Amino acid sequence: MPASSAPDASLVLFSGGQDSTVCLAVALARGGRVETCGFDYGQRHSVELEARKAVRAAVLEAFPQWAERLGEDHMLEMRGFGAVAQSALTDDRAIEMTDRGLPSTFVPGRNLVFFTYAAALADRRGLSRLVGGMCETDFSGYPDCRRDTLDALQGALNLGMERDFVIDTPLMKLTKGETWALAKQLGGEALVEIIRKETHTCYLGTRGDLHPWGYGCGTCPACELRKKGWDDWVAAGRPAAA
Ligand code: ZN
Repeated sequence: MPASSAPDASLVLFSGGQDSTVCLAVALARGGRVETCGFDYGQRHSVELEARKAVRAAVLEAFPQWAERLGEDHMLEMRGFGAVAQSALTDDRAIEMTDRGLPSTFVPGRNLVFFTYAAALADRRGLSRLVGGMCETDFSGYPDCRRDTLDALQGALNLGMERDFVIDTPLMKLTKGETWALAKQLGGEALVEIIRKETHTCYLGTRGDLHPWGYGCGTCPACELRKKGWDDWVAAGRPAAA
């Protein structure tokens, strides 16, 4: 068990989706050791969990310069939390807006719990940077995705665990189009192709046909957001981030 943590070693909260795959590339491009963790909280669809393996394998194959620093993958069992914090992601309720102005996909406190589990794992693994794909720019206004929330949580974790964790959210200010541009900057068209073909974002767990922007039902809020980001990026000429 490491007594101290390496400042450049990262733990990426990795769901197998577009955003967390770009976060994985950010961490690998930055340097240092990188491990990944996922959360099994009783999601309706195991396709998301399968995508994690496929994305990691594709990254290892396409980027040998990163492969030697990509370490273990950890799956954290959180079905108890899923049972308490029921939402459209963990049971069969419809995806709709609720009276609170939040989508029924909102899982109360999810990122607070995820980062607390991730920090406990990172403490044991000697990892100091917790990387997550939260974004407040064009998502649904989930209050636990906001940077203010995560700043407060970072302070609480460091007080409570006597560590110097950094909660790193490289996508926080980016639009979905800019996230594609960041992927191209980090890993070129090879990474763009991995994201298109291997990541999973659809709320309904549908793989379906391969659209220009990837697999998915094409009509749920997550697919619509992903498609719009892709279309914006294509309309801008498929740039790499500066
Ligand atoms: Zn969908």
